[in-house]
This record gives sequence, C-alpha cells and structure tokens, in this order.
Amino acid sequence: MRAETSSGCRPEPPTRPSRRLTVLLTGLLIGLFGAAMLAPATASAEGETYTVATDTTFAPFEFQDAGGNFVGIDMDLIRAIGEDQNFNVDIKPLGFDAALQAVQANQVDGVIAGMSITDERRKVFDFSEPYFESGIQMAVLEDNEEITSYEDLRGKRVSVKNGTQGADFANSIKDQYGFEVVSFADSSTMFDEVRTGNSVAAFEDYPVLLYAIQQGNGFKTVTPKEDPTGYGFAVNKGQNAELLQKFNAGLENLKASGRYDEILATYLGEGAAASDSSFFGLIKSTAPMLLAGLKMTIILTVSSIFFALILGIIFGLARVSRSIWLRAIGTTFVDIFRGTPLIVQAFFIYFGIPTALGFQMSAVTAGIITLSLNAGAYMTEIVRGGILSVDKGQMEAARSLGIGYLPTMRKVILPQAIRTMIPSYINQFVITLKDTSILSVLGIAELTQSGRIIIAGNYKAFEMWLIVGIIYFVVIMALTKLSDRLERRLVK
Ligand code: GLN
Repeated sequence: MRAETSSGCRPEPPTRPSRRLTVLLTGLLIGLFGAAMLAPATASAEGETYTVATDTTFAPFEFQDAGGNFVGIDMDLIRAIGEDQNFNVDIKPLGFDAALQAVQANQVDGVIAGMSITDERRKVFDFSEPYFESGIQMAVLEDNEEITSYEDLRGKRVSVKNGTQGADFANSIKDQYGFEVVSFADSSTMFDEVRTGNSVAAFEDYPVLLYAIQQGNGFKTVTPKEDPTGYGFAVNKGQNAELLQKFNAGLENLKASGRYDEILATYLGEGAAASDSSFFGLIKSTAPMLLAGLKMTIILTVSSIFFALILGIIFGLARVSRSIWLRAIGTTFVDIFRGTPLIVQAFFIYFGIPTALGFQMSAVTAGIITLSLNAGAYMTEIVRGGILSVDKGQMEAARSLGIGYLPTMRKVILPQAIRTMIPSYINQFVITLKDTSILSVLGIAELTQSGRIIIAGNYKAFEMWLIVGIIYFVVIMALTKLSDRLERRLVK
C-alpha cells in the first residue's frame, strides 16, 4: 500500500496523484466561482423600491411555486399595486413573527402576510384598508371523531403559530377548556405537530385551512369561525405614510378594474388548488425547485470541501510540526470543531458573531464558513494521518541528503500521504454533502429546505421526503462508486 521507503526522492510515483489532485481542485474552484455568481441580483426599474416582509408559507396568501417564485394573493396583490402606483417591491420572506419584528425595527418598509387588523396591533402599526375578510377556525385530523368542540380539548395539546391571531385565540380560551398550547414558527410545522398525534388540533385562519384541506392535507374543520377580522398591509406606526397611501389607492384601482377579483379567483376559485398529486405528477411539478435545491447543496459542498482541504493541510501540517505551539494551535482547532455540534456552529457564525460585531453576512456565506471549518477539522486529522502513514525513514533519508524539512514535506512526504488520504477525503466529501442539510436551519434553499418549502405548500410529506431522500441517495451512491474506482486506481 505504501510507496517505497528507501528512495523517497524518486519523482515518479508522486506525480500522478498530484496531477489528479490538480484536476480535482480545478473542479472545486469552478464550483466556487459558481457560488460567487449566486450573489443575489437586485432588480431596478424606475420608481421607488420598497422592501416588504412576508410569511415563509401561508398559502394561498404567500407560498413558493415549483420554480421557487413567491406567489399567492398577497404577493400578486402587492406587485399589482406596485405596478399601478409605480413602485417596485422587494419581497423578504421572513416568517410571520419575524416579519412583524422587522417592520418595527425599520428593517423593512412594510409587511403583507395575511396579517389581521387587531386593536392590539393598531397601537404599533398603521394598517391599510382591509383587503380580505378572515377569521379563526379549529382543525383536526380528518379521521378524528373524538374532537368536535372546544370541550373535547380538555387535557389535550393544541398547536398554533407564534405571534398569530390564532395563537391569541387559543390562549384566550385554554384555561376555560383546560388544554395546553404549543407554539411553532410556521404553519407547516404546526400542522405536522397534529399529524404526528402530539397535538389534537390546530388553530389557523380559515381561508388557509380551507386551501390546505383542498390540497389534501388530511385535515377537517370542526368549529365555527371565530374573531372575524380583515387582513391589512401594515407599516410601522407613524412611518411610511406615503407607502400606505399608495397601497390604499392601488387597492381601490385594482378593485375597480376587476384585477382584484381576478387575483382572488386565481387562488380561491374552482380548481385553483387542483394539481396532479400522483407520485410522478409530484416529481414533475417539483423537479425545478428540487434541482435548484440540489444545485445549492452541491455548491455548498464543493466550496466547503475546497476550503476544508486548505484548512486541513495548514492545520494538519501544524499537527505534525516540530513546534509545540503549532501543534497546540492545530489541536485546539480540531478540538473546537469536533467538540461542538454543527448546528450550534452554524447558529454561532450566522446569528452570534454578526450580532456581536455588528455586521451582516449572507446565510450562504455563513453556511460555507461553518461547513469549511467543521470539515476542515476532520480534514486536519485526515492530513495528519496521511503524513504519519509515510515511513519515518523517508524524512530521515531525505534530510540526510541535505534536503530541508519543508521541501522534503512538499516533495517527498505529501505526495505519498495524498494517496492514503484520498479514500478518507472522499468519505469526508460525502459527510459534508449530507451535513449541508443542517444549513436549512439558516433558511438556505438547499435540497432539504426546498423539500420543506414544497411540503409547506402541497402537504405531501411522505412523498416529498421520499423523493428528497432518493435524490441524496443517488448522488451519494454515485460519489461512492466514483471514490471506489479512484481508490482502486490510486491506492495500489
Ligand atoms: N392572520 C393571522 C394573524 O395576523 C395569521 C397570519 C399569518 O400566519 N401569516 O395573526
């Protein structure tokens, strides 16, 4: 398995693997440029541009279509109003809770998110004229015959979404009916909670429930509609009055022109929700978004593993260095990143550091930094193991011929070490590829997150996770086969 021990200076065997490595690195670099190209392009046309926050998924008001575009009543409405009033909108899907906070912190100009106009909210927001009549309803699983009224909720759990009118309503009656309320960040997780049986019911706006039921999410409604309220577009109190005015004026025009009814009919009309829900129909309709997700997964993997290799070589050399300081630095790096969970590292780098130091970083950048450091720690150990696998006699022989430590490392030891490293390196590649799924917590639309977003819109959890799983499996199997072949050719 090992190269000859006595003549480490022979240039022959080392060149092949290093040429292959060059090819590999070039491939990685190309991937890297791809990542750089992905920087968001900002649209510009005449007219002012307003940033408007919205929920991540609140179909039929806001959700992503198969191509990853934000659609829904709110989205079509705000864009149509923008056209009518000559302004551009930059949509920020932050989640309901976060969207309201963003308006209050003046990070965005307004929010449109199926937001109910309540007296409480009027204290901190200015609302437009109501553009849709809504209200709260309770939903249970289709086959649940036990829960037919609030009385049946005694001793049970009910799931709601953070900061919503539905959550307020549930909390207002929970003591009276003796149930417990659990709160989630988005509607699809709230429904999943009921689906798993941990909660028996969910409180949600009835048009949203109606749409979800039409999509076949397996729920039914059992109680009358409560707390009828209108939805309004909102801005921070006392601010952006001009935008609010434009919204109202635009809304009036759309109502007069019939465009408003058209938009509503697109999402609420007969057959609006009908789609091919067979397994192959699902694959077809979700393929563009899943492929975009896969592309992001690959970009994250390839760039991270590239930087991880560089970090691995630097810290790996430090780990075998003769200097105690360098060894200590290498060990500390490895210990920190192997000793903490990846998800904690991701949160620390994305939320922690920028908040503490007061700067902004995109989720993709934070994701690549996290994965690079994490995989870098493992790569360090791979590099170290590779170097240690080369017989000590080679270093001694080279040094006794008067060749310096670093040149010996570079010309004699490393080329041979690389051979032993290749299988572990590809193994790390596979691990890093799977680890990218954890970055979905930062909202990066990689493969897992794309699956989540799709399910939030079509409620096909079983089929979609199966499809997502198969995609990962196929890609990883292909990589494994490739690595086996590479290994057989190189490690002879
Ligand atoms: N209409 C509800 C509210 O304003 C829920 C909105 C939402 O979940 N996007 O509280």
